[in-house]
Amino acid sequence: APPVLSLQGVHQVFPTRRGDVPAVAGVDLDVRPGQVLCLVGESGCGKTTSARMAAGLADPTSGSVLFRGQDVAAMDKRERSRFRRAVQYIHQDPYASLNPVRTVYSTVSAGLRRHRMVKDRNEARRAVTELLERVDLTPAEDYLDKYPHQMSGGQRQRVAVARALAMNPEVIIADESTSMLDVSIRVSLLNTLGRLRDELGVSFLFITHDLAVAKYFAWDGEIAVMYLGKVVEHGPTPQVVNDPRHPYTRALVSAVCEPDPDLARTKERVRLRSADIPDLTDLPPGCDFHPRCPLYAQGSCDTVRPPLVRSHDRLLACHVVTRE
Ligand code: SF4
Repeated sequence: APPVLSLQGVHQVFPTRRGDVPAVAGVDLDVRPGQVLCLVGESGCGKTTSARMAAGLADPTSGSVLFRGQDVAAMDKRERSRFRRAVQYIHQDPYASLNPVRTVYSTVSAGLRRHRMVKDRNEARRAVTELLERVDLTPAEDYLDKYPHQMSGGQRQRVAVARALAMNPEVIIADESTSMLDVSIRVSLLNTLGRLRDELGVSFLFITHDLAVAKYFAWDGEIAVMYLGKVVEHGPTPQVVNDPRHPYTRALVSAVCEPDPDLARTKERVRLRSADIPDLTDLPPGCDFHPRCPLYAQGSCDTVRPPLVRSHDRLLACHVVTRE
């Protein structure tokens, strides 16, 4: 099936006093109908910036975001409004995502009323009640008139999901790169999101720093691993997690500390060299990863930047492992 949402050669450059920071440097990604694509990497790798561009919350410096094949930058007002409804962004920081002076009813019904998806207050209340039940906030009547401070972090998160669902989205972009929820709450929220995915057939672009979470949520989808603004490995989740090939992905898999037997089985532990992460305003020549790479020292690593190329079942950006 053709992708519902695509990033094509997108760049995002932030000017700073010390020079331009290429936060995202040429990323190509496709989200297909009903598919889960996980973007994984350390903070500052560009995954959140990529997600914000995919949601239309930031314009790329160059490159394109396509929704159903149409360039978002060229959309007229009506098309853009349709796109903004169809692609919903959920920031998984429960403290930042809700307006503190609005009740749950007011938060979840705002979009319904703005887009005239409900006729009157009765219909809006019914719709909000159904949405709260969908995200397992039951009995819904107990939540309608609550304010964010009267709920737990996990409950606030569910309200944010209900608000996104109210728009009948085709794609949900869930950014948990700064996840402040504890593990059991995260797992229960992931289960709810997974169920919604099955019930509604909605696609997900899921952002996380945690490979174990990516594996859990995108087990039948794809993982794209980002490093310093570029995708370095991209393939089906089981292959990437059980047989990581890029030295950076191998280090990430090694670093997963949860006692996950599948992950623990994975080869030898790969440790990053302790060199600092390079300064984005002054990237080294060659492979961006070479100052930290345990495999480095192989000829062109510090002179030629490895392109992202297909190698067997996935895409890889590395001079060495693509030859294996
Ligand atoms: Fe490491 Fe060289 Fe591959 Fe870069 S290209 S990841 S430095 S082996």
